[in-house]
Amino acid sequence: MEILRIPRITQDSCKKHLQRGRSLGLVPTMGALHNGHLSLVKRAKMENDVTVVSIFLNPLQFGPAEDLEKYPRDIDEDIKKLRQEEIDILFLPDNNLMYPCSFSAHIEVGPLSERLCGKFRPGHFSGVATVVAKLFNIINPTRAYFGQKDFQQTVIINRMTKDLNFNADIIVCPTIREHDGLAMSSRNVYLEMEQRSAACVIYQCLSNASESVKSGITSGEKIREIMRQTLLSEPLISQIDYASAYDPEKLEEVDDIKGDVLLAVAVRMGNIRLIDNILLHR
Ligand code: AMP
Repeated sequence: MEILRIPRITQDSCKKHLQRGRSLGLVPTMGALHNGHLSLVKRAKMENDVTVVSIFLNPLQFGPAEDLEKYPRDIDEDIKKLRQEEIDILFLPDNNLMYPCSFSAHIEVGPLSERLCGKFRPGHFSGVATVVAKLFNIINPTRAYFGQKDFQQTVIINRMTKDLNFNADIIVCPTIREHDGLAMSSRNVYLEMEQRSAACVIYQCLSNASESVKSGITSGEKIREIMRQTLLSEPLISQIDYASAYDPEKLEEVDDIKGDVLLAVAVRMGNIRLIDNILLHR
């Protein structure tokens, strides 16, 4: 596994692979790798000649009151895991090389960025889109792999990729969960023991809503109520940012569930914000 830190050198190296006719799979991450991340890595390895994983804790996608400083980091452990997966290139850029003092360009993807998490994290998706655009320009991946866990992110990256004519095929991979259904997340390490066992209410909320839709309930209002009631049954949930049914393309709340539907939740347990979703094809 090659570890590359300089964008220009990484760009040249990836270009050479592409010129030799090799396909290139990219998995962008912020590190503190868990089995969710590794499922993307395995898929990228299976489908491409060359696998590139990036680890970059992107300051642009964190608000001033968010957890950038506290975000879990364990680069030695990450490197070990990626060596085990036998990836080809780890792109580990330095913050100053990604964002020199003169840096001032930003990507805005419009109203999709203002819904769901965007309402509670202003500027977050502009930060995500900007760093992904930079990674796409540096690596020029044939395919780029993202987790369904961050569903809104996948919609925004898809939009950006189409609108700005990036080459990459965007591949969305299923959410990997713990035994009790909690979606794996780097942030789960923040959870105290009691919070950790309480956090499975998020998946229960999605499962209850999903069962209700499958049993024939089509009222968005009714589904919202079922989701809220499940979440409110857990006293350690200190805030519900959102819990509702959405159109999976427009990310607008739906009142009458007809076709495919996204059930999505964001809650806080103290300072820890957790998100999850289920996509129902109907
Ligand atoms: P992050 O390091 O949190 O930015 O995540 C990097 C990528 O891994 C994103 O595309 C996430 O959606 C994906 N990811 C994170 N958690 C999971 C999970 N539990 N299952 C599948 N993919 C995940």
